[in-house]
Amino acid sequence: MRVFLTIFLLGMFSLIAEAKNVVKNFPFEQVTANGWVMHGPLGHPTAENQGFINNPGMIITEAGVVLVDPGSSVQVGEMVLRMVKQVTSAPIVATFNTHVHGDHWFGNQAIRAAYPDAPIYGHPNLIKEAEEGKAGQWLAMMDRLTEGFTRGTVAELPNRALNHGDEIKIGNHTFRMHHYGQSHTHTDLMVEVVEEKMVFLGDNAMSGRFGGMQDGTFLGNANALQQVLKSGAETWVPGHGPTGGSEVVTTFADYLNTVYGAALYAFDEGIESDEVKPIVVEQTIHYRNWVGYELEIGRHVGYAYLEVEANEF
Ligand SMILES: [Zn+2]
Repeated sequence: MRVFLTIFLLGMFSLIAEAKNVVKNFPFEQVTANGWVMHGPLGHPTAENQGFINNPGMIITEAGVVLVDPGSSVQVGEMVLRMVKQVTSAPIVATFNTHVHGDHWFGNQAIRAAYPDAPIYGHPNLIKEAEEGKAGQWLAMMDRLTEGFTRGTVAELPNRALNHGDEIKIGNHTFRMHHYGQSHTHTDLMVEVVEEKMVFLGDNAMSGRFGGMQDGTFLGNANALQQVLKSGAETWVPGHGPTGGSEVVTTFADYLNTVYGAALYAFDEGIESDEVKPIVVEQTIHYRNWVGYELEIGRHVGYAYLEVEANEF
């Protein structure tokens, strides 16, 4: 009897040890005829938000479901799979990843486990940078910021590389890639869904929330937004924050241009870099209620000033 009890208890413990955390459900919201977005919480990964902060997307094509950026962990990816099933019984046939930051693509793990034959697409620089260390850094950071909530997550990389101008046909839908060099990162793919007049911007634009600019450039990012606007799309999905019209793109581009412009003014006038921040704060007053403003504004000014110095010398 005792032996059986011991075996039973050991079994229970191993079940508990293997049990993965579960992310609470977020709904997919329909934004075009066949396009859906799950708008994640704003802010940085925490234990409270379970590390879920991005905007996973879903296009329901005649050939099956196409996902964009299925989230920051295997747990978020599993939640995305659950929520897809609430909308459609169609299988997932492809996934696109917009850039190397792990909050956007670590959910690949759950998708690949459920649909091992569905290709995962990303820019070649994403695959390269992830393999060269970014994946490990992001896994460690997610684990630390969520106090271990995302543990069990591993990096499942895209297995198909796409470049600017590439088009993938899935069912009756055309997925057109936009990449304009270093922008938010060196690894960005903006995914235009032609028939939906819709673009997934990745973090080339955020709305109501700021994030890091450490891997990007202000001018490159603003240029990429100017270029992608020419697609004539009507529905714009930022990497974080509410989906909207072209104002999603122009509002973020204005912010980038304002910060860069202030840094350039300061440089030209011989103002020290640490005196630039008050100037920028004054000029970006309209963005002060965006989540992360207080945290990021000083850093953004610092990066913009360095970028101006590099460009002007
Ligand atoms: Zn990012």
